[in-house]
Amino acid sequence: MRKSVLSKILFVSIALVLMTVPIVTILVFDLIQNIVHKTEKDLVNSIIDTTINLIEVSMTTVHEEKESRILEIHKKLGNFANFILPLLEKYTEELKGILTKSIFIENLSILVLDRKENIYLQGDIKDIPKEVLEKSLNRMKTKESLFVRLNDPVSPKILYLKKLPKDDKIIAFIYPLSGLEEEFNKRAYQTLRKLRGKISEISIQERGYIVIVSGDSDYFLIHPVKGWEGSMVPPEPQTGRDLKKIIRETAIRGENNFFEYLWYSPDFKKVERKISFVKLYKPLNWYVLGTIYEEDLRNRVKKANMLAGLLVGTGSLAALSITFLLTRRLREKMENLKTTWETIQVGIALCEKEDLKIKDMNSALARMLGKDKNEIKGESLINLVYPEDRDLISQYITKIQKGISGDLQVKLTRDDGEILHVIVRGNNLEERGYFLLSFTDITKIMELQFELERANEALQKLSSRDHLTGAFNRRSLEKDLEEMLERAKIEGENLSLIMFDIDRFKKINDLNGHLVGDCVLKILVKLISFNLRPEDNIYRYGGEEFIILLPGTSKENAIKVAQRLRVMIENHNFCYRGYIEKDIPTLYPQITCSFGVASFPDDGNSPEKLLLKVDQALYKAKKNGRNRVETA
Ligand code: GH3
Ligand code: MG
Ligand code: MG
Repeated sequence: MRKSVLSKILFVSIALVLMTVPIVTILVFDLIQNIVHKTEKDLVNSIIDTTINLIEVSMTTVHEEKESRILEIHKKLGNFANFILPLLEKYTEELKGILTKSIFIENLSILVLDRKENIYLQGDIKDIPKEVLEKSLNRMKTKESLFVRLNDPVSPKILYLKKLPKDDKIIAFIYPLSGLEEEFNKRAYQTLRKLRGKISEISIQERGYIVIVSGDSDYFLIHPVKGWEGSMVPPEPQTGRDLKKIIRETAIRGENNFFEYLWYSPDFKKVERKISFVKLYKPLNWYVLGTIYEEDLRNRVKKANMLAGLLVGTGSLAALSITFLLTRRLREKMENLKTTWETIQVGIALCEKEDLKIKDMNSALARMLGKDKNEIKGESLINLVYPEDRDLISQYITKIQKGISGDLQVKLTRDDGEILHVIVRGNNLEERGYFLLSFTDITKIMELQFELERANEALQKLSSRDHLTGAFNRRSLEKDLEEMLERAKIEGENLSLIMFDIDRFKKINDLNGHLVGDCVLKILVKLISFNLRPEDNIYRYGGEEFIILLPGTSKENAIKVAQRLRVMIENHNFCYRGYIEKDIPTLYPQITCSFGVASFPDDGNSPEKLLLKVDQALYKAKKNGRNRVETA
């Protein structure tokens, strides 16, 4: 009676083990393939976006200054034209001879154009692209004057056209901007240097980073690895592929803006496989690259749990940088911020200090919360936070008020009731009555972390166990034996090893087929596992050889255990009816096992010695007639 119940239990549990192993394997594989890859893409791209935002915010000042200088030039050209026009009108005929060439006043060249013949005078007009000139002259049919920017990268210019009312002629002023362009490029570069520290801090995975390549010169403008900055993007080692070209081509590929390549890392003195994501920051013609190492990507799968930690780290770094910049900019001029405020991916809110009422927020935050901006304005910040976390945010605000900085992870409630995980970073705007708070959405990351933890657990289980029998594998044995031995030494306890091998197993295979043999192995492991203490583990050492580790067990007791197991196996009915295939006849192969026992400290104090001794003991059992227990 007891036997048949046990058989049923065995049957069910073996079926379960058999079914779940492949399913779990597929699941875990899929999970890692899809999630890690997709997330990696999203993550790197959002880091690039953040970097571009950082550049944008910092460059706005430089850019605005440049634009205001150009406006000044416009004004001066206008004034100059007003001064010179009456003269030209008066002395056109006299000037004709002189005007066959263009007049240069310092850098400014002046030309008179005949609209009918298109070009009346030759000279520097050659520098103006024909189609631009034609278009501009066309536009002059309805206009009194016109400014055109010629963004030629080598010699940018301003073209100013003004009508000569009397003669139906147009006068052209060409003012070179090279000097100005140079000056501002220098300024932009200096600003970038200041940003460099921040950009170099951004880490993607273990060793990944952000790189900026100049589109005009193919040089690395920013590269956190020593030695690369200021040098030209090299060709791919081994293949010689032109990486500069690949970067340019990849940047325009939209969603698939990444490429794989080989890279020589001087720090590691080896060629490694890398993946880079690229986006072009058009205003400056800079390629912003987020690069990762393929090896890290693979390691990440192993260390799945680290992923979430790293992502959160990067997210809060981005929030920190943006808040830092925004705060600085806010102090200068609130209006200038408008664009950045709206385009940035991180949610931002401006709160009154007194009552924490939300005064303003950007679209990113409204989107995160699934609410209308106006709906939220005037509401208390506390109300947005998930009730459970409200104390947390209140304490955090008190800290910020005292000037203590830091991040806080809280949950927000979306309008549709969904919970949003965010990292909050607050900044006290001293001279104003406000707080600036940034919110980085980490919901996806939290979900991912949860799934990866599960995947990791499953992976761990899979990699430490033998697929066929579910016993721990040899790698686990090596690891556990070493650890248990160390512990036994420290605690002055015994550790015993039992090694056993099925007697004449070849014959069982030969008589019943390999599938039956496999089945016997699985049943045997289950049988033994059911009959061991929780702290004892069974490991598959070889084909049909197993080892049991018994911590805190003396040699004498281990021999008793081995005897008990031996008798149990001898008396067990290895029933597998209908298990493999319905029409396989019911067979009851009778099996026996031979056992060897060795113990610490009696037989040795190293894993190697103990394994040798237990093997010798098993050999003795075989030699002395099988189905017996022997010691070293
Ligand atoms: P003995 O140990 O008593 O000396 O005889 P034996 O027949 O068991 O001899 P040996 O240990 O050399 O042979 C082990 C056999 O176990 C060889 C192989 O066919 C079989 N075996 C090993 N692994 C598996 C397995 O995973 N499934 C099956 N069905 N058979 C296996
Ligand atoms: Mg055998
Ligand atoms: Mg064997």
